[in-house]
Amino acid sequence: MPVSIYDSLGLDELRRQQGVDPQAVRRLRTALLKSFELDERALAECPVGEQLVLHTLRVDSQHDSQVDGATKLLLRTHGGMLLESVILRIATGRTTLCVSSQVGCAAACEFCATGKMGIAQNLSAEEILDQVLQSGQLLAGEGRRVRNIVFMGMGEPFHNEANLYGALESLTAPELFHHSPAKILVSTVGIPDAMIRCARRFPQVNLALSLHSVKPQVRTRLVPLTAKYPLEDLRSAIVQVNALQQKPVMIEYLLLAGMNDSDEDARELADWLSGLTVHVNLIPYNPIEDAPELAGTDRAGRNEFASRLKEAGLQTTIRYSLGADIAAACGQLVRRENRAATRVRT
Ligand code: SAH
Repeated sequence: MPVSIYDSLGLDELRRQQGVDPQAVRRLRTALLKSFELDERALAECPVGEQLVLHTLRVDSQHDSQVDGATKLLLRTHGGMLLESVILRIATGRTTLCVSSQVGCAAACEFCATGKMGIAQNLSAEEILDQVLQSGQLLAGEGRRVRNIVFMGMGEPFHNEANLYGALESLTAPELFHHSPAKILVSTVGIPDAMIRCARRFPQVNLALSLHSVKPQVRTRLVPLTAKYPLEDLRSAIVQVNALQQKPVMIEYLLLAGMNDSDEDARELADWLSGLTVHVNLIPYNPIEDAPELAGTDRAGRNEFASRLKEAGLQTTIRYSLGADIAAACGQLVRRENRAATRVRT
């Protein structure tokens, strides 16, 4: 039976059975998960290599942006499902990796390409981890390292809570990736109890709430799950998360023209957030084909909205957007590829 590289007990048993030095296994895991060496090199000196499973995903294609440092990796599970990871090489040399937690998403947010795919399939912890390993190997070839890992790819991480926590354990484990929890961010559509559980179990991992509006009607339209988890519950979850963490909760706010970007929206948002330890990220909308009725707020409008929040004393950043030419917004590329596949089939 093949043993996963992440399965410490299984690995130990295999090593014992074959009389292999524990150091050889330790060196293999260091080479692979900390130095991100290529498989053949990492395996070179490990006698049990043949019986190990290093990868749970296969690279289907790689899309490099021609305008900035973004790369999208289209990956396929053994079950044949397509998912994506996005590498964001930022000019300062820092590199952020955006990973998927599911294929598809049940949250069905109006502006989100993944949401439009509908029902989700959970990725296993190993499938989440393999996105980090494969991206790490690609970057190592360029002399780069993943610095930040953000769960902002396809899926709702808290709809796949057990596997998310399994992945977080392995990412931060000294004998595995040993990645700093402070450089990991979990972004959620807003599931109050899960936010609190996550902050309790991983107080150093950053949390982001995709808020987008504090007007119940508007938020329900954009994020239908608002009907199940109302805004009051999200606010009290932030209060509790703040009590568990020494850091601000990130508030993600997509700016949509005429929808959530007026002066009144800014005022109401500032009121709603007052008393909370938060940092607001204003996100430019990446248009998707399935939501032709939505348009992003222009640059002047984004600056104006940011000024209103700053005047109200809120820490606010306008996020820049990378990878527009490679459909880097959550789920866009997979959706396009799946469509193309459907066209071929029919
Ligand atoms: N389900 C989680 C994580 C995946 S989405 C969540 O909702 O947070 C990651 C971020 O991308 C969220 O803040 C989401 O609102 C944003 N996003 C989704 N579609 C987008 C689009 N078309 N343009 C810009 N941001 C988008």
